[in-house]
Amino acid sequence: MCLICDRIKMIKEGTNPYFVKELNTGYAVIGDNQHFYGYTLFLYKHHGEMTELFQLDKAERAAFMEEMTLTAEAASRAFGAEKMNYELLGMGDAHLHWHLFPRRTGDIGDYGNKGKGPVWWYPMEKMYSDDNRPDEKNLAEMKAKLLAELEKLI
Ligand SMILES: [Zn+2]
Repeated sequence: MCLICDRIKMIKEGTNPYFVKELNTGYAVIGDNQHFYGYTLFLYKHHGEMTELFQLDKAERAAFMEEMTLTAEAASRAFGAEKMNYELLGMGDAHLHWHLFPRRTGDIGDYGNKGKGPVWWYPMEKMYSDDNRPDEKNLAEMKAKLLAELEKLI
């Protein structure tokens, strides 16, 4: 089973605590871990055969890219990014999903390029540490902030 499909199933059942907003092509959600404060994901609605951007038809791809961009802009405004970082990976879960990271100088500490290196230079065990999971109150605040900014843009 695909982790992204699992999370989407939870959204549809109303049990995903990270869910923020449904758009036409996907879902905006807050990331489980918040070392990079405001880390947000945009999950494509469909899995199936379409696991590469180049497999989507042009109109669908344009809509997906536009909605990801709006989600990134909303995250940037909501969480005060110095610069947004975007990743579409998928070796683990091939389901199309964007990782949207609000970045600030120094947020990877001494792990390269004076704290301005890519997010993946930061050690995985620190990035995914339980210490940086938002508690219920913080998560509720983050969701409200992101939703407010998304609604201004859409
Ligand atoms: Zn999936």
